Amino acid sequence: MANTADLIAMLKEMNDIIQENKDFLTELDMPIGDSDHGINLARGFQAVVEKLPGLADKDVGTLLKTVGMTLVSTVGGASGPLYGTAFMKAAVVANGKDQVTLEDFLSMLSAAVEGVKLRGKSTTGEQTMLDAMVPALEAMQAKAGASSSEVWAAGLAAAQEGVEKTKDMIATKGRASYLGERSLGHQDPGATSFTLLFSVLAKHYT
Ligand code: ADP
Ligand code: MG
Repeated sequence: MANTADLIAMLKEMNDIIQENKDFLTELDMPIGDSDHGINLARGFQAVVEKLPGLADKDVGTLLKTVGMTLVSTVGGASGPLYGTAFMKAAVVANGKDQVTLEDFLSMLSAAVEGVKLRGKSTTGEQTMLDAMVPALEAMQAKAGASSSEVWAAGLAAAQEGVEKTKDMIATKGRASYLGERSLGHQDPGATSFTLLFSVLAKHYT
């Protein structure tokens, strides 16, 4: 269960973890991209944090919609519209709700995945953020009925494994796809940043 205040606290932690990992994410984007993923997300989440004080009395849907729109307008690159879409799709599920349950979170993550697939014309196995998002969602769904902490822990473990597996993939979407087979051996920046963001949620519930 999370209400707007809980989510605001988690969004601040998401900003912290992105700022802490800004250089790491940017380094991951160096060999297979244009060295800006950490910079892009750090800028976006900083802008999100600045909006949070004005959102304390809003429902979860309004909060997440504002986060999504802020990310679209500040992150840039491929990941800005994709993360923006993810949050805006989750917002639709949370529309009008003052709190969200674990079941809601699963619906929100599922909507976010569908949004990224549609917007990115992408699917799993293409060395993108989806290679962390989809395993996390599927692992959580597979744990249905278990305690909330077990469900979140399974999701985080699957996202982390998903990140590792991106090293065995050849990128076919985004900038890394220009490298073809030379993208092999590299950990995807977007899958990594998703896992960092997700770890904030998982930590909160485990
Ligand atoms: P850019 O590649 O435009 O510089 P970023 O560096 O901010 O943007 O983000 C790169 C990340 O975006 C990649 O690591 C990948 O995870 C994700 N990404 C790129 N294109 C797609 C896509 N079509 N579908 C899903 N994720 C994508
Ligand atoms: Mg980049």
